[in-house]
Amino acid sequence: MFVVGILSLQGDVSEHVEMTKNAISDLGLAGDAIEVKTGSQLRTLDGLIIPGGESTTVGKLILKCGIDKELIRLKKNSIPIMGTCAGLILIGNHNNKKIHNNKNNKYNNKNSLGLMDIKVTRNAFGRQKESFETEIKIPKIGRELYPAVFIRAPLIESVGDDVEILAEYEEMVVMARQDNLIAVAFHPELTSDIRIHNYFLGFVKT
Ligand code: GLN
Repeated sequence: MFVVGILSLQGDVSEHVEMTKNAISDLGLAGDAIEVKTGSQLRTLDGLIIPGGESTTVGKLILKCGIDKELIRLKKNSIPIMGTCAGLILIGNHNNKKIHNNKNNKYNNKNSLGLMDIKVTRNAFGRQKESFETEIKIPKIGRELYPAVFIRAPLIESVGDDVEILAEYEEMVVMARQDNLIAVAFHPELTSDIRIHNYFLGFVKT
């Protein structure tokens, strides 16, 4: 039985738990989705989702709870991680600043773990478009268009050589993958379409 953890420091935690449980049963798998926030919980996981919320807040809480190294270790141990919206900001590189390895001030505005080779811009969409829903193509999850909910969403500004672009909106990259790390700029937990959670579970050892 495998376990997918949803990082429960702030944000859309319960929605992701429910969606992941639905995806697990949709795929007929024997696993569970649980809320996690301690190092010992993180060590037991087969997959992790970092939800949307407020990345500066979550970044600070990660440091306060002392779990930054544990999160980095998950990647080193090849545990699949999906970051959605604020979670994308946390797994990416925000102007190349990272919350770990900063020598001087631990609690400054450095809010990325730098797990994935993507450069991210926060709140990248204009005012009228700060929150909107639109249908986008995500060929990897099927031919049917996907209803993407963007809420003060970040944008993947540039990607490294090992990163596969999975979706674009108006020529801006909004979903990408590097190995078993998946970055999603919108909120898959706020729709009734479970294909992105199903896709993520495809990387989890089930
Ligand atoms: N704008 C938020 C941030 O910068 C992210 C928004 C979201 O997760 N819905 O953290």
